[in-house]
Amino acid sequence: MFMPVGTQGSVKALDPRELREMGTQIILGNTYHLYIRPGIDIIRQAGGLHKFISWPHPMLTDSGGFQIFSLAKIRKITADGVEFRSHVDGSALFLGPREAMEIQRALGSDIAMVLDECPPHESPPEEMEEAVRRTIEWAERCREQPRLENQQVFGIVQGGSDPQLRERCAKAIVRRGFDGYSIGGVSVGEPESEMLKAIEMTEPFLPAHQPRYAMGLGTPAQIVELVARGVDLFDCVLPTRVARNGTAFTARGTVSIKGGFNKGDLGPIEAGCSCFACQNFSRAYLRHLLNVGEILGLRMLSVHNSHMYLKLMEDVRRHLAAGTFGAFRGEFLANYIPSQKVLLARQELV
Ligand SMILES: [Zn+2]
Repeated sequence: MFMPVGTQGSVKALDPRELREMGTQIILGNTYHLYIRPGIDIIRQAGGLHKFISWPHPMLTDSGGFQIFSLAKIRKITADGVEFRSHVDGSALFLGPREAMEIQRALGSDIAMVLDECPPHESPPEEMEEAVRRTIEWAERCREQPRLENQQVFGIVQGGSDPQLRERCAKAIVRRGFDGYSIGGVSVGEPESEMLKAIEMTEPFLPAHQPRYAMGLGTPAQIVELVARGVDLFDCVLPTRVARNGTAFTARGTVSIKGGFNKGDLGPIEAGCSCFACQNFSRAYLRHLLNVGEILGLRMLSVHNSHMYLKLMEDVRRHLAAGTFGAFRGEFLANYIPSQKVLLARQELV
């Protein structure tokens, strides 16, 4: 399953009707961003995030930890949580396991994530070890917090690129018993080979009958590789982010629709694509829209790219069910040409 990312309570440039039409089953909301703006009180008054953003379907919220460690200015980390300053106005805020779960209750998400400590990938070993210790402790505290009826809670495994730390963290988190397990500390600026290794180190310790979620990943080719390594659930900002740069995902890799070679191309972004953009508009027209700064251009690229990801997951599920995933994987990866620029775009912070 792929979850389009609604960072600020909106999947950028797409409305709920479009998301449903293209087969979205679940979206992700960012606790940190919503906590800072518009604030939890107004969302609580609105009756929760589903109502506030008019998305009556499943929703996962992250704990806010990733953004605190990547965006905010941290003042102090204690056993109870993190003192930090908002990246927007510098105001002093606090988030710990208790607060993270309380906010996610107010948001009313169907799946809440525990608060974890997510250090940068180049952190020294002793900091990685400390982050794992804290991640386990906070997971325990999150587990003790009240949760909404039917609200699931997923644990998160940290440990960087150290196999022993990954194993220790995974076993400790699984022992505490969550509804699903996420592999964190990936998509934090590490090279792709290290990301794949971190997944491979963690996966054997996660129960096969429960969802495994790779946070913040990835490109279409990476997703296929991660499914082959036992991952079930993904979220990534790439489809809508690269759309805003005028880039489209296809089964053969990415293509710049702004490129001059599309000037006279009256064909769709991708032949055979059933998305609204490809059914109605040509590359030449979309290129024109992008060049003159018309909003419709980036909206349609966002439609195509998000549809591409969701359709890819549909194909993956069909091939898994039919027992033909191995052949599908080989063919998909042989055709897909990765782009360095897109790999780098994934690592911009949100
Ligand atoms: Zn399309």
